[in-house]
Amino acid sequence: MSGKLFAIFGDPVAHSKSPLMHNFAFEALGYPGCYTRYLLEEGAQLRDRFFSLQLGGANITVPHKEHAYRACDELDDFARSVGAVNTIVRKAGKLYGYNTDAPGFLKAIARFKEIRTVLLLGAGGTALSTAPILRDAGYEVSILNRSAPRLKAFAEAGFATFTFDTFEAQSYDMIVNMTSAGLKEETFPAPETLLKPLLKTSKAAVDVVYGKQTPFLRLAESLGVPTQDGSEMLLQQGVLAFDLFSEQRFDLETIEEAMRKGLRL
Ligand code: NDP
Repeated sequence: MSGKLFAIFGDPVAHSKSPLMHNFAFEALGYPGCYTRYLLEEGAQLRDRFFSLQLGGANITVPHKEHAYRACDELDDFARSVGAVNTIVRKAGKLYGYNTDAPGFLKAIARFKEIRTVLLLGAGGTALSTAPILRDAGYEVSILNRSAPRLKAFAEAGFATFTFDTFEAQSYDMIVNMTSAGLKEETFPAPETLLKPLLKTSKAAVDVVYGKQTPFLRLAESLGVPTQDGSEMLLQQGVLAFDLFSEQRFDLETIEEAMRKGLRL
């Protein structure tokens, strides 16, 4: 079998640990693949770049998941329903799009027990795919975003939605930072005065940003709330993407074990 090249597209992308975990798993499992990163500033160029780099597959991160959705020839049912793609596989010259973020997130929070109500901070592509899968799994999901436009789709899907201005204080079992606040700058995803009482009455605080402690997680920890950063989500979405890249050649536990070692988790 000849080797295949894979890449992660994003902006920023330098921080991504996807090359590390996928390359580690390719090596450990003896799969002839190589995974690199590509800084893509213009999302509309995704499809051209994919073909000119002769990729076998790709992951797509901030802020191009909706572009990736439009770049595909075929979509699986879940990716179509949420309108965001984070994994593309090339088969017979066509691009097939999937979303492994949301099932990855669901698996990543499984260790937190007695969680019924979840407040997602942020209304971007990741929240869009994650909110319905959480609801299907039995969680009661509400969305808080700094601005109104992106909340419309959530309200139409029946979720309780708030901006900072319309938010009425109440308590939730789990608070999730699903914004990119804290990724580049040291900013909170919502005003500290709003976050503090929310965190104080919560049972868990989860961030999707990984590789650093964000101001959000630092605040939660200072209040004694159990926390988890985005590494476990990164791992779980990566396992599902690897499974698609390698055409289901390995069982998921084997992939997870290899990637966990790569990420030192
Ligand atoms: P999008 O660009 O689609 O959406 C960003 C969201 O964050 C919007 O709701 C935006 O609000 C909000 N936001 C951005 N900056 C701020 C800020 N400074 N303060 C408050 N709100 C802010 O991003 P994605 O949904 O694709 O990604 C969100 C995060 O999830 C990223 O950090 C990404 O790296 C991470 N992620 C991690 C994964 C993992 O494996 N650990 C997997 C997938 C994503 P507005 O609507 O007002 O613009």
